[in-house]
Amino acid sequence: MVNVKNILVTGGAGFLGSHLCKVLLEKNYKVLALDNLYTGRFVNIEPLIKNENFHFIKHDIIKPINLDVDWIFNLACPASPPHYQKDPIYTTKTSIIGSMNLLELAKKNKSRILHASTSEVYGDPLQHPQKENYRGNVNSIGIRSCYDEGKRCAESLFFDYNRMYDIDIRVVRIFNTYGPNMDPQDGRVVSNFIIQALRNEPLTVYGDGSQTRSFCYVSDLIDGIVKMMELEDKFCGPVNLGNPQEYTILDLANFILKSTSSNSNIIFEKLPADDPTKRCPDISLAKEKLGWEPKIGLKKGLKDTISYFKRLLNNENCCCSRGQIPRSSFGPST
Ligand code: UDP
Repeated sequence: MVNVKNILVTGGAGFLGSHLCKVLLEKNYKVLALDNLYTGRFVNIEPLIKNENFHFIKHDIIKPINLDVDWIFNLACPASPPHYQKDPIYTTKTSIIGSMNLLELAKKNKSRILHASTSEVYGDPLQHPQKENYRGNVNSIGIRSCYDEGKRCAESLFFDYNRMYDIDIRVVRIFNTYGPNMDPQDGRVVSNFIIQALRNEPLTVYGDGSQTRSFCYVSDLIDGIVKMMELEDKFCGPVNLGNPQEYTILDLANFILKSTSSNSNIIFEKLPADDPTKRCPDISLAKEKLGWEPKIGLKKGLKDTISYFKRLLNNENCCCSRGQIPRSSFGPST
């Protein structure tokens, strides 16, 4: 193993961040998780706290920070539409000012730094499936643009720091991911449908459900992220990480109904503005450069995710055992 001691994971208490911290600890790295707990949840990292190689600090990456670190994974940003739309200016600041602060830290320490970008940089794609050289179709003034344009600008900053200061950057574009540790209040489709099905409440399909997404199980995704960071070749990316098995949202709803033996029905609600009509990663670059492809299909991945939400529902102190789950704003069409 390469001689790496200190790894900073921003967004370390989030859904992906907490899984990443766990895997890095299993690989005997020292992990410093940083999170402002805006959408990250302490409960996700509670099992890691007793590990002497794990430390947590509450900090917001919008403020500069000075640490001694060898590698940085930047995963900090609200990521579900209801969460990133709640305070869109804050979302943009997190992506752009936060990235600049971490790039400055990488410059000071000469650290390798990975950025969690997103399939949202492709917007409502006109190319299908999406390859990394597709430049996207983003509405720069719409309700999703705080996230999409924030992440696009962050990519631009990462590549400029690489060109100007020779920082060892790694950019991954993450497609829809699901699994245990998802926040029941996240508002994304997989968590919403599972919670609704388990409560025997109607599943809320937005639009007619013909829009598509491709769902990657969290362990596969983390494996791809770690492979990208551990690659000794200076390969910056961007590289797509996601599962190319594509489903309509209506198919997903029916699949979850069947997998939970639920009595719920399906109701159709208004489609949020700028909701991408289709999304599917072309992962040939990840296969070629990282030897990576997802191993876990929807059936197995959903089984484990449903068990996780069942455990939460059985805990009456958990917010998903009661109350409303959030939904994205419809927003004006622009
Ligand atoms: N969606 C839905 N019902 C829900 C939540 C989401 O039909 O309760 C749809 C949403 O409109 C989108 C897709 O599911 O077409 C994926 O939404 P999600 O928020 O999970 O992620 P996105 O890929 O849009 O960021």
